[in-house]
Amino acid sequence: MSPIEILQRKFGYASFRLEQDAIITAVLEKKDTFVLMPTGGGKSLCYQIPALMFDGLTIVVSPLIALMKDQVDALKVNGIEAAFLNSTQSVEEQDQILQQVHANTLKLLYLAPESSFFKRVSKPNVSLIAVDEAHCISHWGHDFRPEYLMLSQLKKSMPDVPVIALTATADKITRKDIVDKLALNNPLTFISSFNRANIRYKVEAKKNSFEKLLYFLRQHEDESGIIYCLSRAATERLAEDLTLKGFTALPYHAGIDKGQRSKNQDQFIRDEIKIIVATVAFGMGIDKSNVRFVVHMDLPKNIESYYQETGRAGRDGLHSEALLLYSYSDVAKMKKFVEIEGNPEQSAIYLKKLNQMAAYGELETCRREYLLRYFDEKPTGYCGNCDFCLTNFETMEGTIYAQKIFSAVSRLQERHTPSYVVDFLRGTPNVKINPEHKLLKTFGTGRDVSKEKWGIIIRELIIQGYLHIPDGGHQYLKLLSKSEGVLKGTDKVMLITSKDRMEAAEHPTSYEVPLFARMKDLRRKLASSENVPPYIVLSDATLTELASYLPFTVEEFSRINGFGEIKIRKYAKPFGDMIRDYCEEVNIQSRIHLLPPRSNNVEKSKDSETRQQTLTLFKKGYDIHEISNLRGLAASTIQSHLAFYVERGQIDIEKVMERRDIEVISHAITNSKGVWAAIKESLGQQYSYGQIKLVRVAMEKSKKLQRESV
Ligand code: ADP
Ligand code: MG
Repeated sequence: MSPIEILQRKFGYASFRLEQDAIITAVLEKKDTFVLMPTGGGKSLCYQIPALMFDGLTIVVSPLIALMKDQVDALKVNGIEAAFLNSTQSVEEQDQILQQVHANTLKLLYLAPESSFFKRVSKPNVSLIAVDEAHCISHWGHDFRPEYLMLSQLKKSMPDVPVIALTATADKITRKDIVDKLALNNPLTFISSFNRANIRYKVEAKKNSFEKLLYFLRQHEDESGIIYCLSRAATERLAEDLTLKGFTALPYHAGIDKGQRSKNQDQFIRDEIKIIVATVAFGMGIDKSNVRFVVHMDLPKNIESYYQETGRAGRDGLHSEALLLYSYSDVAKMKKFVEIEGNPEQSAIYLKKLNQMAAYGELETCRREYLLRYFDEKPTGYCGNCDFCLTNFETMEGTIYAQKIFSAVSRLQERHTPSYVVDFLRGTPNVKINPEHKLLKTFGTGRDVSKEKWGIIIRELIIQGYLHIPDGGHQYLKLLSKSEGVLKGTDKVMLITSKDRMEAAEHPTSYEVPLFARMKDLRRKLASSENVPPYIVLSDATLTELASYLPFTVEEFSRINGFGEIKIRKYAKPFGDMIRDYCEEVNIQSRIHLLPPRSNNVEKSKDSETRQQTLTLFKKGYDIHEISNLRGLAASTIQSHLAFYVERGQIDIEKVMERRDIEVISHAITNSKGVWAAIKESLGQQYSYGQIKLVRVAMEKSKKLQRESV
């Protein structure tokens, strides 16, 4: 079977995602590979599919025991021979698994990074090693595990076995460190976009937070979610308060005894309770794919943690939400937690990260854009799925306000805090103002505006880059050069006055909601009889497809994502019956004809995958030359990939080529009436076919737009 056939028949998915196909191809060629993909991106299939195609055994190194069991269960549900070895098992259990290994009846073996296990697995048997959560090997990463260091011996003891390292978080230093420590041999690197388009990012002021939380949770009734709190006590208190309000919630933190803790976690994973209220101790190794929301009641320490924690929502690709309750006072509170005594350098790094996190809370621009930029990725344009992008803003001219503030700051010699500047402007009685300042011209000129409003305007001017408060020191308000034109009266300032949140942009549901609820119940029953978490039986994404397309027959089920051969055999009947009953009850027809048939066209999907990878790199800021080097493909190939996106309006031609070159080429195209040979001749050697093609599609696109607007 080919990879795509395995994907469809064993795992029941229609097509590969992101770079999965290219990664699998590289692994099958026995190359070392390094995979950077966001949480929920689909890293597991990158080694699971090769594992099924190789003769011998694939070893998967994984740091978390809970995760191993889930992954093995998920494979077994699809009829794949897999097992795990870790120290929680009895010697008998371990021996039994090792026997299976030696009899070559296992395809995948999940191992905790302990040398004793490696020694007991015979080498000739091993055809691939996958190191999951590979950042654990680096002390530069945020989750260093010393026991991972033993993996640096892997390449020495099994030099011919290819290694695939996978992680969701790694900056450049960590990335290099992973490759070095694992001694990967000239690895092929695959970097996917970090964008999690299905997660909606929202921030609300941390005021009346419990009421806000209740309001939010009521919009998410019957959905699973994680609520993060800073302190252990807060998790317990909040879980209790939520229970009193009728929600099913349990706390989770490292201080709860181990037995109880894993019980709470299990109940959450098995959908027996909907909400887990936890400290950051919760989440590593949780693969539950139907987490619909993540709430942060307190400010996380850095963007890395925040992104990882919110990334636990929506692994199934369905709409999910991430809500942060933000208050500036949290920043001061968190400072205590990030400062490391006797280590000013490390403290400075952590403080900087904290400030970047705080800036996210204060943002008046697209949240996704900020997050992607933080991870060195160029944003993808209008995101349409964060609170900023879903808000209508109204602006008003604020030049006079700005002039008053700038002039006050300047006359106060940029040596006062924002609140002093406001008091000065308002000439507030009973507030200590230096008597000399009372003689200045601007003193008291802002009496007619409230203190709060001045505060908002100053903040806005900081955001717009007219003013700033340097890090550390006295928190004095300073002027930036952008303010000069305003003071001189040549530039205008626009202020945002009102916001009107488009809550109406709630996610539309096009599926049968009551049927979905019934199927969740059925799923829970089936899961408990098989003793696995419900999302392993079928994901929410699969249930949503069922409730949208309403299949009845086995053939129809085979067209639903998530139904491989085994799952069709096991679950098509009970779900098919339920769907048929429902359709009769409410008198509707199956909508399966709306679902396009599954394509077996491997070439086509390969084509789009490779193009996609070019796009990803391009968005990460690599130019054509660099992408061509990185991918080992001709520049003209890369240009034709990009042309595809230019044609669809996903990339602006001016981002690909210099404006001057575009002009020269488009001139030549127009003059030569589009005849290739003539164009090439008039341009000479200086320009390639790839460049001409790019300009041509861009011209055609703009012509089309003109036609449409006529
Ligand atoms: P990661 O390890 O990158 O966080 P997983 O491997 O756990 O992600 O995959 C996340 C989810 O996406 C799983 O439910 C998985 O079955 C699903 N998935 C992976 N690849 C595909 C695909 N090609 N099509 C549909 N679903 C997929
Ligand atoms: Mg994973």
